[in-house]
Amino acid sequence: MKSSAIVEFVRDVYQTQDFIPLHTPNFGVKEKDYVMETIESTFVSSVGKFVDQFEQQIESYTGCAKAVATVNGTSALHTALYMAGVERGDLVITQALTFVATCNAIYHMGAEPIFVDVSPASLGLCPKAVESYLLENAEVRDVGCYHNATGQRIKAVVPMHTFGHPVELDELSRVCSSWNISLVEDAAESLGSFYKNRHTGTIGDFGALSFNGNKIITTGGGGMVLCKTLETGLHTKHVTTTAKVPHPYEFFHDEAGFNYRMPNINAALGCAQMEVLQDYLIQKRKLAGLYQAFFANSDTHFITEPDYAQSNYWLNAIICPDSAVRESILKETNADGVMTRPIWKLMHRLPMFEHALRGDLSYSEYIEAHLVNLPSTPIHLTSNQSF
Ligand SMILES: *Cc1c(COP(=O)(O)O)cnc(C)c1O
Repeated sequence: MKSSAIVEFVRDVYQTQDFIPLHTPNFGVKEKDYVMETIESTFVSSVGKFVDQFEQQIESYTGCAKAVATVNGTSALHTALYMAGVERGDLVITQALTFVATCNAIYHMGAEPIFVDVSPASLGLCPKAVESYLLENAEVRDVGCYHNATGQRIKAVVPMHTFGHPVELDELSRVCSSWNISLVEDAAESLGSFYKNRHTGTIGDFGALSFNGNKIITTGGGGMVLCKTLETGLHTKHVTTTAKVPHPYEFFHDEAGFNYRMPNINAALGCAQMEVLQDYLIQKRKLAGLYQAFFANSDTHFITEPDYAQSNYWLNAIICPDSAVRESILKETNADGVMTRPIWKLMHRLPMFEHALRGDLSYSEYIEAHLVNLPSTPIHLTSNQSF
């Protein structure tokens, strides 16, 4: 596949000769109205009706028992790991093929990641790889799962739904429960993605969403912890709001909490964005369909949703079997004003995680060397755009 053909195709789709970014937010009248309302009411900070409303919208959309809004996705993950009982010195199994936030949240719990390979079905954590890592390296005791060589407890497994494609959650849940390990889903990229009709982030013990500016919908900065039970949800809300015990004027905090509350002004954006989510999902699916048709019968493989799931197609991606071709696509499309990007460097290549425990990562390494992300902003595709 020639870079010039890709550039021409993307320009036709987006109907512009200007610079085409990877993913941009889009706001309408509602966003302005709701944000103005918070300013006029002075309720811009940590209390306000939009926070409650946004949490309720996410609860009814995802089907989780309780959703807790936070300042960003990283803080949502940090809180989720805290709530799952991860402690200083624990080990947490995750994928090396992820955005650094997943590992930063683990690190800041005082825990250490173990990197395991991803699955060709999803580009997310592979249940078989997790199980074989555990079989070779760990044992279950009454009090949990322990790593044989280091004696550390393996407390959680954190899969990430790469680019919105759901991981094999039934299989992962089965591995986690038989090894007595908590399951925390990094669903930062997968709002609108469903695993067998269940929303991603609601199958594990906890899930985390992100509403950063490049995600499918945005609150400027923001995140959400998805909780399985009302009880854990209320506790999650408590720890994200400094664990202050309600009282008309006394300050008493019964736990070392976080100040991770999403401000009302950001939640106002979130409420308006939830009203367009369904439309964005439809547009993104159409866009992915066009890419898929364009790359069909070429030497380049377009990544589609796993057959067991419905993906939000947050970020479109191709695999170029020839890595030299991949380098020229990255260079030439960017030079021509069409933004494309390689996938993140694998986590064990970063200085803070280079000594982390890890299993075989050969598929992650293959993806790292061959993947290209393509422009994915939702657009209204008209019927005269047929390619
Ligand atoms: C975006 C993202 C996060 C959270 O990011 P924030 O910028 O903190 O909202 C976490 N994990 C993954 C995989 C992400 O893509």
